[in-house]
Amino acid sequence: MFYEMFTHKSYEIEKSDIKRLFRLGFNCYELIADGFIRKYLEDREEDDKEIQRNLLQHLETKEHGKMSDEESDESNESDNVKGTETTKIFEEIIRMDLKRTGYDVEISEIERIRKFGVTAKIITTYEFIKKYLTIWNLKDEELDKQILQWRAENTKECKRCEVERLEKEFKIRKEICIECEKDIEKENPPDDKDEVEEDIKGPEIGSSKKPK
Ligand SMILES: [Zn+2]
Repeated sequence: MFYEMFTHKSYEIEKSDIKRLFRLGFNCYELIADGFIRKYLEDREEDDKEIQRNLLQHLETKEHGKMSDEESDESNESDNVKGTETTKIFEEIIRMDLKRTGYDVEISEIERIRKFGVTAKIITTYEFIKKYLTIWNLKDEELDKQILQWRAENTKECKRCEVERLEKEFKIRKEICIECEKDIEKENPPDDKDEVEEDIKGPEIGSSKKPK
């Protein structure tokens, strides 16, 4: 049934392709990155290694291109079509992602959850699904309340990347997610003085750092 979803859309991607991409280590967010699937379809016949390399490269270019997004020359005309395409693919990806973690959730159910404003990142977490399975048979209104409450208690939005994440993706009492913290660290290597202030003195003690 869901297989049809792909075949009569312009994307000729098949379930096996998505599985393959997962196997190569890409996640559902990467799969819906702009142009990712297109790029994959171009290279589909190549071997795994080649595909992996090309796609990583593609993601990297996207990453660097983020700043000057407005000037991107592709994507304009087909934005609307692409929107629904992406949604469909997205929902299917979520479904497969859930299936991998052992949950068999119907597409219609995922559409329903998405209507309540839950992001894919949250839907595909074990924590959310565990909760959802206990409340899914509630009426919409009540379900909406329960979901909102669960989100208020278990997730928060990172102040930096503005992505809603599970609490466990933050260090305690931090407003910035661990992923962002790592990014920041990468961008400003630790000889930045502001950061070291609390560390008594001396540029680097190194005791807490593992040698590589
Ligand atoms: Zn963040």
